[in-house]
Amino acid sequence: MAALEIHNVRKEFGSERVLKDVSISIDSGEFLILVGPSGCGKSTLMNAIAGLEPVTAGNIYIDGEDVTWRTPADRDIAMVFQSYALYPSMTVRQNISFGLEMRKVPKPEREAAVERVADLLQITHLLDRKPAQLSGGQRQRVAMGRALAREPKVYLFDEPLSNLDAKLRVDMRTEIKKLHQRLGTTIVYVTHDQVEAMTLADCIAVMRDGHILQLGTPDEVYNNPVDMFVAGFMGSPS
Ligand code: ADP
Ligand code: MG
Repeated sequence: MAALEIHNVRKEFGSERVLKDVSISIDSGEFLILVGPSGCGKSTLMNAIAGLEPVTAGNIYIDGEDVTWRTPADRDIAMVFQSYALYPSMTVRQNISFGLEMRKVPKPEREAAVERVADLLQITHLLDRKPAQLSGGQRQRVAMGRALAREPKVYLFDEPLSNLDAKLRVDMRTEIKKLHQRLGTTIVYVTHDQVEAMTLADCIAVMRDGHILQLGTPDEVYNNPVDMFVAGFMGSPS
C-alpha cells in the first residue's frame, strides 16, 4: 500500500486551474523530490497534501485512508514550508516541543526529542532564545527541528534549505539524507536545486504548468528525459 497517494487532484483559484488532475503514488520510505519552474504549482500541491488548502477535485490518501477532508492536524504529517512561521512568544525549545505536547507526548520524551534535533541541527545554544533573536537561517533550522521532533507517516518539505548559506545547505542536505536512511521515513521534498534533487531522491517528479511531466528515478529522469523541457530542466547531456 502506498504511504501517500495523490489521486486526480485538481485545484482552481477562481478561473485559474493550477493543478490539473495530478496523480502520484509514493511508497513507504520513499524520498520523492518535486521539481519544476517557479509558478508551476509545487507549493499548491504541497498545501493540498498538508490540508492547508481544500482541493477542487480529487483525493489524498495517507496509508490508505482518505484524508482529503481532514484538517492538517488530523493528517499524520509534519511540514517545513518556505514561510516557516514560528510561535514568536515561545522559546526555540518550546517551539520544537509544542507539537509533541499537543499530541500528549510525555515530558521526558519531549525533552529527549528536543535534545536530539537540537544536536542534529546545531541549535543547542539557541534553545532558550525567542524567534526574534535569531537570524533567518537559524529560524529555518528551528522550523526544521520542529518537524523532525515528530515521527509522522509523511514529511513535507517545501524548499526548506532555500534561505541557508551554501555550506550549511550542504551540511543539512547530508543530515536529511542520513535521517531518511536511518528512519526510513516517507518524504516529499520540493527544491530548485538540481544537485539536491539528484543526491536526495529515490524518485523525481518533474512538474510544469500544473501537471507531472515525468516521474522516475534520478537516473531515468536525467538520462532518459521524456522531452526537451525535462532535459533542459534537469541539465541532461544532449
Ligand atoms: P510554485 O510553488 O511551483 O512556484 P505555486 O504553487 O506557489 O507555484 O503557484 C502556482 C500558481 O498558483 C501561480 O500562478 C500562483 O500565482 C497561483 N496561486 C498560488 N496560491 C494562490 C492563491 N492563494 N490564490 C490565487 N492564486 C494562487
Ligand atoms: Mg513554491
